[in-house]
Amino acid sequence: MDSPGTTVIGSGISGIACARALADAGLTVRVLDRGRQPGGRMGGRTLHGRPVDLGASYLTVPDGSPFAPVVAGWVERGLAHPWTDTFAVGGPDGLTRTTTGPVRYGTAGGLRGLVADLATGLDLVQERTVHEVTADGAGRPSVDGERVDAVVLAMPDPQARRLLPPAGAGPALDPDGWQPSLAIALGWSQRRWPGDLHGVFVHDSPVLDWVADDGDRRGDGAPVLVAHTTPGLAARHLDEPERATAEVVVAVRTLLGIEAEPEWTHVHRWSSARPAHPREQPFALAGRIGVCGDGWAAPARVESAWRSGTALGEELIRTR
Ligand SMILES: Cc1cc2nc3c(=O)[nH]c(=O)nc-3n(C[C@H](O)[C@H](O)[C@H](O)COP(=O)(O)OP(=O)(O)OC[C@H]3O[C@@H](n4cnc5c(N)ncnc54)[C@H](O)[C@@H]3O)c2cc1C
Repeated sequence: MDSPGTTVIGSGISGIACARALADAGLTVRVLDRGRQPGGRMGGRTLHGRPVDLGASYLTVPDGSPFAPVVAGWVERGLAHPWTDTFAVGGPDGLTRTTTGPVRYGTAGGLRGLVADLATGLDLVQERTVHEVTADGAGRPSVDGERVDAVVLAMPDPQARRLLPPAGAGPALDPDGWQPSLAIALGWSQRRWPGDLHGVFVHDSPVLDWVADDGDRRGDGAPVLVAHTTPGLAARHLDEPERATAEVVVAVRTLLGIEAEPEWTHVHRWSSARPAHPREQPFALAGRIGVCGDGWAAPARVESAWRSGTALGEELIRTR
């Protein structure tokens, strides 16, 4: 009988990176995800005729990262482009200065497309919610009752926690140490902020953490901003995120001195947006049940999620 191979649960960047490593080594692997498309927190939506990133805003690649050749390949094929190294900094009352850092990469079609590209040729099943991961007395894992050689939970700890038995097999998780965020897209009929804004890190605000110029990062110049809220504001509005919109609109208009109300808004809730304390270790593996994602391989971001998934894939190959 053919080996059932590895099941990766989660088609975010960490799960796809893990599956990619296994498939490239010639091993049998399938990826299951409850969402309609791959990408996870690198996702977005088509709003008013164009894609808008509502999760990660951009990619960064630290010097010497093994992720660098992957990003270079995307740039070479026109899937990603260097966006900017300079953002504004602001507070509750307005903009205060600019700050320069690493090059941030954006995409014309949405960051999700990069994950889809990495998934090319993989056995990928979307719209499949997994309910349970168990292990028998010998530590052999099953996914919803179906035996597999190994299983990878490539997702935030609170989501992984729900799949594993409370006191059963599996790696130690930190389900309480994750913070929510709301992403609110705001559209106008014309641009009403400085052309060289790119984005704003917001300090000391009870409402906003960050505002991105979506038209600028995408390259089409559309008059669309995406605001990310503080964890505190998101926590208060998790049940009815739309109720946060009015407060966010006021905060964005004050920050950028925009007089006009936006013509449309769209809210997306990220219940587990970021780990408050990402771990240094790149992944956890207990028997043949592994966990990876941006809760590992700190700091929490796209690049570390990719490293985490790749490292777990390499470990599963080494120990098979
Ligand atoms: C608002 C926000 C802004 C961010 N900004 C940036 C940024 O600018 N730059 C940056 O580098 N990083 C940023 N990040 C972080 C970045 O998005 C993440 O580090 C990265 O996308 C995590 O990938 P992942 O594969 O670990 O998890 P995810 O992308 O969350 O993937 C987990 C997947 O598991 C699936 N899943 C969960 N439970 C089940 C189940 N039971 N059955 C089936 N499937 C399931 C989900 O559908 C999801 O697709 C941001 C994140 C957020 C939320």
